Amino acid sequence: MEIQVNPIAPEQRRQPPTDETKLGFGKLYSDHMFTMKWTLDKGWTQAEIAGYRPLSMAPASLVLHYGQTVFEGLKAYRTESGKVNLFRPLENCRRLNRSAARLDLPQVEEELFMQALEALLKLDREWIPRSYGTSLYIRPAMVATEPYIGLKSAAEVLLFIITGPVGAYYPEGFNPVRITVCEEFTRAAPGGLGSAKTAANYAASLLAEKQAIKKGYTQVLWLDATHRKFVEEVGAMNIFFKIDGRVVTPSLESSTILSGITRDSVIKLLKNWGANVSEEKISINDVLDAQRNGRLQEIFGSGTAAVISPVGVLEYQGQEYTIADGKTGELAKSLFEELMGIQYGARPDPFGWVKTLD
Ligand SMILES: *Cc1c(COP(=O)(O)O)cnc(C)c1O
Repeated sequence: MEIQVNPIAPEQRRQPPTDETKLGFGKLYSDHMFTMKWTLDKGWTQAEIAGYRPLSMAPASLVLHYGQTVFEGLKAYRTESGKVNLFRPLENCRRLNRSAARLDLPQVEEELFMQALEALLKLDREWIPRSYGTSLYIRPAMVATEPYIGLKSAAEVLLFIITGPVGAYYPEGFNPVRITVCEEFTRAAPGGLGSAKTAANYAASLLAEKQAIKKGYTQVLWLDATHRKFVEEVGAMNIFFKIDGRVVTPSLESSTILSGITRDSVIKLLKNWGANVSEEKISINDVLDAQRNGRLQEIFGSGTAAVISPVGVLEYQGQEYTIADGKTGELAKSLFEELMGIQYGARPDPFGWVKTLD
């Protein structure tokens, strides 16, 4: 299928922000967006890039009532020489398709997804900020647009991709976060939606997050829904522990954990560095035992937005534990610098993760 590219008129184009220290996250959108429609009869049609604009859909659209929707998140990075890098973008397309399959939404062809991304970035290249650490956030999403008040899988779906410039996550250097273990709520149960990037998981986390913030913490550490014992994720990030020189992260077997592309990259980098890294079930009690015996060296989260997010304080059942003296651990720092280096084209890319657009 051909993508119709209909740029807005030059005089309608907005000026991307010039002060890149004030970008923040998720407040600004670039000039153009990609849209494509799907129907059960015709499959995908009307692939188009046109001006960023509100969507119009019926109030009875299935997504608004039953949450049949999935999304993705990736970034475009500007290198020092002015090129544009994407980091493992095909993995985002594959995960979008796995999430879509779970929500009974249609599959998108990888080639078309990549073409759409490239065409969109070509048109809105000026929106990709220039300072190290800043990037253009890319948000693909699929929503069930068919108007129908009964519960069913949609026969009409919209895929769209919007983008927007985002600031450096740590403009003043690393900031270890304070996290609290949530015992009241869980984010995902076995057989549920935890391994899909779908709206319901995030809606389900909001109240817990609000309570955490009220108690003075910035993120929630999620335990498994069955036993309230095994560690799963931190906020909307995957989680890593360094204990006795070994690095462990919760395994994906339970299908309650989102398979992060940053998580996978961290594992591959660590293996490449000869580190002892494994994916296993980790109980909160094992973590705290290690902390009490002085064997817990670092905790950090991983995800596209922050890349690596070191944990300075962990709260569980009214007790606060200071991790790595509340500072950023060596490993978190090395991984952060290596991943950023690869993404911005400043370090070698031995795994072929970067796709450079010309
Ligand atoms: C997106 C996401 C992650 C991180 O995935 P990346 O591909 O590394 O950005 C982790 N956990 C949850 C719940 C997520 O939604």
